[in-house]
Amino acid sequence: MQKPTLVVPIRPPSRGACARAPLPAVYGLAWAQRAGRACVICGQPLTTGAVSRGWIYGKHGAHRLDVEVWCCPKTEDP
Ligand SMILES: [Zn+2]
Repeated sequence: MQKPTLVVPIRPPSRGACARAPLPAVYGLAWAQRAGRACVICGQPLTTGAVSRGWIYGKHGAHRLDVEVWCCPKTEDP
């Protein structure tokens, strides 16, 4: 039995969208994004109020590439 494929719709960018956007693969992240210094979604430098998006897990051969990632503060109304 096959597992259903999870399809995440990609929304157009808007204020606060980074807090909801699907996380990218760890392989494409810039150094600043992996270091938690830039938004994992849009790449903007983070200052205060960064929102944790948890961890992205990845592997490259024997190397673990797990990183904790952050995104822009949530700015839109609920
Ligand atoms: Zn962002």
